[in-house]
Parts: sequence; structure tokens; C-alpha cells
Amino acid sequence: MSTDTMTRPVNLILLGPPGAGKGTQARMLEDRFGLVQLSTGDLLRDAVAKGTEAGKAAKAVMEAGDLVSDEIVIAILSDRLDQPDITKGTILDGFPRTEAQAAALDTLLADRGQKIDAAISLEVEDEAMVARVAGRYTCAACGEGYHDDFKQPAKAGICDACGSTEFKRRADDNAETVRTRLAAYHDQTAPLIAYYEARGALTRVPAMGAIDRISDDLGRIVAGLTAR
Ligand code: AMP
Repeated sequence: MSTDTMTRPVNLILLGPPGAGKGTQARMLEDRFGLVQLSTGDLLRDAVAKGTEAGKAAKAVMEAGDLVSDEIVIAILSDRLDQPDITKGTILDGFPRTEAQAAALDTLLADRGQKIDAAISLEVEDEAMVARVAGRYTCAACGEGYHDDFKQPAKAGICDACGSTEFKRRADDNAETVRTRLAAYHDQTAPLIAYYEARGALTRVPAMGAIDRISDDLGRIVAGLTAR
């Protein structure tokens, strides 16, 4: 896929409950616009796998489906923002999740001469999210996403994208934990929709339909941001 021309860094937030498609859409926007997906969930899973101090503190909290402390998550994100691969901008996937994180993000970006350009709320129905999340898995080599019911590889056991035969499932992608994660979303993260709406930065995108249609909608929004 070609990389569209961008003139200045663009920082975009994807908001939505677990299963809304934030990760899938972020990967597509990465390919198309050369933005970097910053998933605090991925960064935390990495820290857990490496056994760092932050990872040790986060592991049980994540397995229960609760939110990791703002302090740990903000520190992890701040380190990531300093990596040299971020030139064209970022797609924040799973951050911010609290108002304290949203305020910290403004400061982190301002320190780097940047700001949030848009927050996109992926609008979905909660009831469908449990089935979506509980059946999902990814290629262990390239991260391509699959689902037990909705999207199996064309050849059983072989990744369509890279040919790997290794797949993985997240420890927290089970029906019980998803319900806790949905509750955490509504209690602590959904208020950010109003927060960004009040700043005139929010766009709502219906996200129950086909992945490609949603991706087209998001692509138009990102292309419009760079043209301003
Ligand atoms: P995710 O991959 O975004 O679904 O995140 C998986 C888990 O990581 C969440 O259920 C939380 O336990 C933790 N987590 C990820 N991002 C954050 C965040 N911004 N603030 C607090 N906890 C987070």
C-alpha cells in the first residue's frame, strides 16, 4: 500500500471499548499514512513478557481487566514517544483511558511541540463486543488478527499475511474479563468522549460495519487533518 503524503506530525486518538477495532484500524492507518500505532496495551504486554518492574506491577491488574495505574502507563508512553521512528505522527490506541492521562498527554505532546489533532470515537454496541473479543487471536509473527467465528486463515493454521504457523491469544481475552474491561471503559474512559467533544476535537464513526468501510471513513478524516 502506498504511503500518503503528510506535511506535519499528526496525533490521533482512537477511543472505543475493547473489541471496537482500535488495533485493526490503527494498523491500517499505519500502513496508509506512515503514522506509528502507540498501543499502551501492547507496551504493557511487552513489559510483562520482559519482566520489567512496570510489567510486574501491571500483570495481575491486566489479567483482572482493571486499569493499570496512570503513573506506570504515562511513564511507558513518555518513553515510547521519544523513540526515533515517530516522524509523521501517532495513532494512540488505548491511551488516554482516564482524564488524568488525557491531561498528561497534552503536556507530553506540548513538551515536544505537538498536540492532539483529533479524537475518533468508534461507536459500537457493547453486547457484540464480548463475542468479538472472546474469539480473537493473532499471528505471533506479524500480528495479523483472526477470529474463531468471523475470520479464520484461508489455510487452516497458516497466517494469510506472512505464512507463520504460530498464533497467540491474549490472557485477558475471555468473556469474564471482557465484561470487567467494558465496565472500566464506561466508568473511566467514556467520559473522555465529552472531554474531546468540548474541545471541538471529537469525531464519531459508526463502527459495527465492514472493516474496510470503517477504514475508508477514518482515512478520509486523517487525510483531511493533514490538508488543514
Ligand atoms: P488493551 O490492549 O488496550 O485492551 O489493554 C489491555 C489492558 O492493559 C487493559 O485492560 C489495562 O489493564 C491495561 N491498559 C492498557 N492501556 C492502559 C491505559 N491507558 N491505562 C491503564 N491501563 C491500561
